Amino acid sequence: MALEIEGLVKHFGAVRALDGVTFEVPEGTVFGLIGPNGAGKTTTMRAILRILEPDGGSIRWKGRPIEEVPPARFGYLPEERGLYPRMRVRDELAFFGELRGLSGKALRQAIDTFVELLHMQDIIERKVDDLSKGNAQKVQFAAACLHDPELLVLDEPFSGLDPVNVRLFMRAFRHMRERGATILFSSHRMEHVEQLCDALALIARGRVLVTGAVEEVRRRTGRRVLRLAWETPGDGA
Ligand code: ATP
Repeated sequence: MALEIEGLVKHFGAVRALDGVTFEVPEGTVFGLIGPNGAGKTTTMRAILRILEPDGGSIRWKGRPIEEVPPARFGYLPEERGLYPRMRVRDELAFFGELRGLSGKALRQAIDTFVELLHMQDIIERKVDDLSKGNAQKVQFAAACLHDPELLVLDEPFSGLDPVNVRLFMRAFRHMRERGATILFSSHRMEHVEQLCDALALIARGRVLVTGAVEEVRRRTGRRVLRLAWETPGDGA
């Protein structure tokens, strides 16, 4: 098992954001976290990336406690997207690649690969500030993937994308999977989960309601429960 999450607990003041979250993700698979707003998806991801410290429970990566694993093994697309607005896209990607230890030819090749995969040829020399939301998201998605992470954690990667960009992102997902990455992502849209995931966990109020292979979860719960996960107020999905 690549990622093992057991009994994760996190409080923010009186709010119990995580109430014993438990699930596991086999190596090289794609795993979806679905659930309504405030369910605990982002908090779970931040705990995995060690951006926040859980109050209880454990997280292991390939058998080791997560705090012993070098951060460069991971790639992260955060919910609050953050790029340096005055940089050109090429410089921005180089910056993120270098942060994760890439340089020279390997860095240039990695950038070229994602420029091609995500159709960024027309924006590569533009300043990030001048990009549409979808294009900025492509840049940040590439920034998370450039260094070939073992674990890719993507918080709502499809939110706000038009259908053309959704297809490009799916292509990039498959590319990362073929490279051997284990991928954890959150989404409100069941169609993304069905198309991409091997397995999923449905989270609500800080607890995993059900987890397993997509087909198995559907068999056990029926579509009614899965609908709960993405028909959240204001989502429009
Ligand atoms: P969304 O789809 O809206 O991003 P989510 O499933 O990612 O939802 P989280 O962002 O993990 O949910 O939030 C879980 C709960 O913890 C919510 O009640 C949220 O308001 C609360 N919470 C998260 N971060 C903080 C924080 N830094 N301070 C206080 N409360 C927080």
